[in-house]
Amino acid sequence: MVTRIAPTPSGFLHAGNRYNFRLTANLAEEHEIPLALRIDDVDAARYQSVYADDIFNVLHDLNIAWSIGPRDTADFEAHWSQRQKTNYYRAELALLRNSSVETYACRCSRSMISSVPSGGCPGQCRTAQHELVAHESALRVHVPIGTTISVNDVEVHLDSELGDFVIWRRDDLPAYQLVSVIEDRDLGTTHIVRGEDLLTSTAAQIFIASSLGAENLGTAHYVHHPLLTDASGAKLSKSR
Ligand SMILES: [Zn+2]
Repeated sequence: MVTRIAPTPSGFLHAGNRYNFRLTANLAEEHEIPLALRIDDVDAARYQSVYADDIFNVLHDLNIAWSIGPRDTADFEAHWSQRQKTNYYRAELALLRNSSVETYACRCSRSMISSVPSGGCPGQCRTAQHELVAHESALRVHVPIGTTISVNDVEVHLDSELGDFVIWRRDDLPAYQLVSVIEDRDLGTTHIVRGEDLLTSTAAQIFIASSLGAENLGTAHYVHHPLLTDASGAKLSKSR
């Protein structure tokens, strides 16, 4: 059994991140299971070393100890950055493309995608059989109508709540959902603590997990905690 803290180094952490770290560390202590630190930088386009420094500072400040993962920013950048593993993720993607989960290349432009409310392909790409071409298309997972995923005791209607989600990005980088599943598979994660805004992400990851050999995600214990808000009731953000 293992759990992990998995921040994205795209800005300075806020109180909600600290709350998530504390809950995860408490869960690890309570169940006496190892705690891993995983810094999810694969799509952190705004990455700066100071954001990684901030993660380590917050963990030290909260007196949280972890036994798996980078020890400091230099160790992270030299040995643990997900940006060094793109070819590994690309090879793992083949597992998904050869599985019963249907994927397709979507060539719709950003403006077309932003013009529709759901996150799926706004055009006809699913049946068009486009080739996946770097910088011209993204790869999406087809979520059939009526797909429901149970996350512990919560039912998520994945087709209506998320739609056909991107698994490989147009800029030729793996999408967060793919990386998160592969990393949790490799770590053998059994306990996952996330904000409730990530419930549909969890469902998407469970949907593709067994195709990637990540059976542990189907049986993992999930906690989706309420988000901390500011005085006006708005969700906290790293960019503010
Ligand atoms: Zn499309």
